[in-house]
Amino acid sequence: MSENCTHDCSTCGEACASRQAPQDLQAPLAAGASVKKVYAVVSGKGGVGKSLVTSLLAAQTQLRGYATAVLDADVTGPSIPQSFGVHGRAQGCDGGIIPAASKSGVQLMSVNLLLENESDPVVWRGPVIAGAVKQFWSEVLWEDVDYMYVDMPPGTGDVPLTVFQSLPIQGVIIVSTPQELVGMIVEKAVKMAKLMEVPVVGMVENMSYFQCPDCGKRHELFGKSRAEEIAKQYGIPFLARIPIDSAITQAVDNGQVENIHAPFLDDLLNGLLNG
Ligand code: ADP
Repeated sequence: MSENCTHDCSTCGEACASRQAPQDLQAPLAAGASVKKVYAVVSGKGGVGKSLVTSLLAAQTQLRGYATAVLDADVTGPSIPQSFGVHGRAQGCDGGIIPAASKSGVQLMSVNLLLENESDPVVWRGPVIAGAVKQFWSEVLWEDVDYMYVDMPPGTGDVPLTVFQSLPIQGVIIVSTPQELVGMIVEKAVKMAKLMEVPVVGMVENMSYFQCPDCGKRHELFGKSRAEEIAKQYGIPFLARIPIDSAITQAVDNGQVENIHAPFLDDLLNGLLNG
């Protein structure tokens, strides 16, 4: 057993001999709930557009006719309900918590839907946060969900570790931006997924370029992108480049992520939904 073992595989990152397989720690769904496939959206740090990618993927998946859900595991920086324009508190019933629904019917659960005042900060310790995310999985009455996207907390710390172990995550989508130390971030995410025995679906570069609305020319504002090269280096597919666009910021701020035209996600969605 490693010197650093915490004797609790749900919070320990050590790969020691007595480690329980991740699937042993998975939390069950509530009675009557059903979720077919779960994908996690991860990033190295906050503010790179992980929540945007999560909510866009969900909106586009629902638009293609699949019953879709978002579990907002970014408990200290929850922004999913806002991007869908969903406010107010989730309702409970005898069997569990009823997820909120967006305009197009995406099922949502986030800590913001449970707080008395959605602008209240969540000042909780790691294990409490991780426990809340587990409850979002096992105490919410997810109804016949084909695809669930999990907006993961940024980084590779305690909470994402627990989320990976508690939920049956089918694949990981890594979001990065050109400003980040992409190589290092991708390597960390790839290693974490490997440790958790979850395949990496691929990588998305957000804020990749700005497209001039007048002449259509693409400008790489943060210098030449290295994302494709890095994805190749780690043997993972490079799946999408998302432009930086004030229309995106405005739509998200106004709770209209479902109105964003997102052809840049087509290849990623085709892979996810047919895979
Ligand atoms: P994260 O989940 O990684 O913390 P968010 O998805 O919340 O990041 O994005 C941070 C902010 O940047 C949000 O206001 C979002 O609307 C904005 N944003 C993200 N990506 C883009 C983009 N490609 N174009 C314009 N605004 C963006």
